[in-house]
Amino acid sequence: MKTYITPARFRLAVQLLFTLFCVYVGVRFAAFLAWALGQSSEFVTKPGAVEAFLPISALLGLRQLVETGKWDAIHPAGLTIFIAIMVMGFVFRKGFCGYICPVGFVSNLLERAGRRLGLAIIPNRWIDYPLMSIKYGLLGFFLYTVLFGMDFRSVQSFLSAPYNMVADAKMLAFFTDPTVLSLSILFVLGILSLLVRNIWCRYLCPYGALLGLFAWFGPTAIKRNTTTCIDCGKCSEGCPSGIKVQEKKSVRSPECIGCAECIGNCPVDGCLSFGLFGRMKIPWIVVGIGTVAVLLGFYCWAMATGHWDAQMPPFMVKKIYTMFLGPV
Ligand code: SF4
Ligand code: SF4
Ligand code: SF4
Repeated sequence: MKTYITPARFRLAVQLLFTLFCVYVGVRFAAFLAWALGQSSEFVTKPGAVEAFLPISALLGLRQLVETGKWDAIHPAGLTIFIAIMVMGFVFRKGFCGYICPVGFVSNLLERAGRRLGLAIIPNRWIDYPLMSIKYGLLGFFLYTVLFGMDFRSVQSFLSAPYNMVADAKMLAFFTDPTVLSLSILFVLGILSLLVRNIWCRYLCPYGALLGLFAWFGPTAIKRNTTTCIDCGKCSEGCPSGIKVQEKKSVRSPECIGCAECIGNCPVDGCLSFGLFGRMKIPWIVVGIGTVAVLLGFYCWAMATGHWDAQMPPFMVKKIYTMFLGPV
């Protein structure tokens, strides 16, 4: 019987849902800001999900958590989401990149368009590997600075600094009131994404680099049955990350986003599958559903235990945003 739920369709549906959710969060956050800055009298609570866009603040919050056991009181949802994403990365490969991240979604659309136009390439490894080292270099810089370069007092000063308190509003301004420079950079990246597959995610995003490292040590990997494989190459052709699945017995690459498109493309039933701990086979859909379930699980836990919304009375929130925010 023909199945209509293919890995590619399922992933597209989940990506679309999360991208629409991000737009909704952005609209609600704009309404919250209008209230906080006195431009509207209608009270709107701040949507915690907006803090997902503050990974540096979350990393500093994580250091504070490890050193003091204290959860970040300024952006509690940001820290919850950050830890959830690390857990996802470890258990379900880079499922966050494959199913949830809206930037990854846009990059994925451009990559597909580039492939259809016969443009998108992955440079040969002499160029590819050095370019990939950029994101690891950026990751190393951020990790070194936050974990070793800053003393604990500086971490706490950053977390309670005005800039950090209103960083989410500054981030929104990047989208609602972009400068000519940021628009030009986005335009160039968009064009380059048509020419080089997933250029931002593949070479520049330190968040993806961190998730890739978690995934590398994780228990989930694509497995190829070398006995039943007919060497048709369809798995490698369809892989958005350009992994040569056809040549591997097991895919543990930090570039693998767990999208299962290689499984969907394989004409031999059961030849490719996700394996857990190198033995147990799991259905491809478990990775996508599991990724979303981890996020929802953390959200429910955080809501139930007070680790999502900042515990601050509305008048205080209003005061902070009015005091610290320059023109947004
Ligand atoms: S690499 Fe970065 S931008 Fe790309 S999907 Fe992953 S987290 Fe998002
Ligand atoms: S190896 Fe398979 S699951 Fe991993 S990115 Fe490529 S197509 Fe997706
Ligand atoms: S698509 Fe399946 S049969 Fe074809 S090369 Fe890949 S693993 Fe082998």
